Amino acid sequence: MDKPIIIAGPCAVESYEQVIVIAEKLKEMGVEYLRGGAFKPRTNPDSFQGLGKKGLEILKKVKKKTGLKIVTEVIGSEDILTVSVYADVLQIGSRNMQNYDLLKKIGERAPEKTILLKRGMNATKRELLGSIKYLKQYGHKGEIMVCERGIRTFANNEYSRFTLDVNLIADLKNDKNFKYKVIVDPSHTAGRKELVEKLTYVGISAGADGAIIEVKPFEDYESKSDNEQAITLDVLERIVKKIKLLIKIL
Ligand code: PEP
Ligand code: MN
Repeated sequence: MDKPIIIAGPCAVESYEQVIVIAEKLKEMGVEYLRGGAFKPRTNPDSFQGLGKKGLEILKKVKKKTGLKIVTEVIGSEDILTVSVYADVLQIGSRNMQNYDLLKKIGERAPEKTILLKRGMNATKRELLGSIKYLKQYGHKGEIMVCERGIRTFANNEYSRFTLDVNLIADLKNDKNFKYKVIVDPSHTAGRKELVEKLTYVGISAGADGAIIEVKPFEDYESKSDNEQAITLDVLERIVKKIKLLIKIL
């Protein structure tokens, strides 16, 4: 691997101030991609659902200022065209990996856009490949990055929210027929910040081409979503440095 793909940012876009503090620091670290959800697929309907269009506008402003590439999720087919205007990479969330109507419409309406397809938490390899096939069969021609973000096992939130399937990462990277980039998401796998650093290295060691990591602008900041798994920017800085060292010996 020549250069790891590092994507970092908040779980959800909450304000310009929150995002710009993170983005300026990412730029300083040489991170190329800024993540941040404007439309959030939350487990509980009472939880913060994202700023919607206003969140996309914040991402646009931050991109203009920093030049970072934007990774943001689309959750409804009616928003594909709008989100595509703002996103350099269109994220399809774990919960939507098998939303075949959404996959078909993304194929049709955003054929050139790079996609970050997150593996469903209960999805098999065959189902994951099926979702890629849907995108392609319905017209998608751009790049697709596949993201392993943890699967449902027995961790049950006792020490981790999900379990990182490093076996799948290693398998996909061994698979001669699989030509897509694989990204590890240690944040959603763990659900807690204490595990994020180690899981990143494990994913990269298994062959992942990069990582997507949730961060907060400063230590005491309370994120409206996934606060427990957000790491600080100094921890991210260490991770970015160590990933570069790690890939040299792999
Ligand atoms: C996210 O990236 O913020 C997210 C909701 O991830 P997942 O779809 O993997 O749960
Ligand atoms: Mn999140």
